Amino acid sequence: MRRSASLHDAALYLRGQINTRLSRVFNAWDRTPRAVPPPLAAVIAGERSPLALSRLLEGRSNPEREAAVARYLGARGVAFARHAFMSSEGPGENFSVDLGSGNRVLLLIAHHDAVPGSPGANDNAAAVGVLLTLLERLSTSLPPTLRVRLLFTAAEERGYLGARQYVREANLAELAGVLSLELCGIGDSVAVWDVADETPFLGRVRAALEGCGLRRDESYNIVGRIPMFGSDHRAFAAAGVPAYGLTLVPAAQAEALRLFIFSPMRSALRYLVRRPVPFDTYHTARDSGSTLEPAALAVALRALEAVVAEVA
Ligand SMILES: [Zn+2]
Repeated sequence: MRRSASLHDAALYLRGQINTRLSRVFNAWDRTPRAVPPPLAAVIAGERSPLALSRLLEGRSNPEREAAVARYLGARGVAFARHAFMSSEGPGENFSVDLGSGNRVLLLIAHHDAVPGSPGANDNAAAVGVLLTLLERLSTSLPPTLRVRLLFTAAEERGYLGARQYVREANLAELAGVLSLELCGIGDSVAVWDVADETPFLGRVRAALEGCGLRRDESYNIVGRIPMFGSDHRAFAAAGVPAYGLTLVPAAQAEALRLFIFSPMRSALRYLVRRPVPFDTYHTARDSGSTLEPAALAVALRALEAVVAEVA
């Protein structure tokens, strides 16, 4: 058991290495002008919407992104836990915020890191902006019987490293379910993905999406295991917790997306083939805040609020 777990870690480490090194090489070729991020203090003092808060991270280095999340939470007076780790695969720091009380925990994740050479707006500053906005909203309307935990992870792009470190120390028995937010800033349709089988948590998520007016196979999709992509939820799914990815996609691209993500060759060659939205900017120097759509971010936020209410 231990042996297979360490082999699994080694495979993820390798994949993370390939992921970051390819991005560094391809993004170094890209001549897209880089936007200069606004001063952190201005973002912290500014508007609290997903788009505005995505600027805490967009265009900054990974150490700056990590520090920006902690600085924002500190400046807002939010109680949060720090989970610093130092592993053979690298260092990092996850941050968690618990809202509400109760024995059951709904865990919502957004990673704060990005691949080298990418501004990392849709991947994954947008998702961090969504969770920070959710934090504001839930602070005034907490469900009485559920704890909502927002987890901002480090080093997702290095094989879910931060999430794997977190899983080692977490009380997994208290988790009602996990959603990892990825690419939440472009599109009009919610995709819940890496769904292997029916779970009570999945039933709640589906009911929540229907309850906020989304329609199956139109404005939301339940998608099976995706071959070449992944996110932090996989660290939890590997430990037997019901855990899925949540992403926004344009409904008009549904067919092209299906072809792209379920063809391992196409996704493996993603730097070379023409990619459908939102993968056209994914891990590239073009993943800037100017591509983010407030309407997409609003759908993600509304969906999460509905999931919180449904799981509570
Ligand atoms: Zn990501």
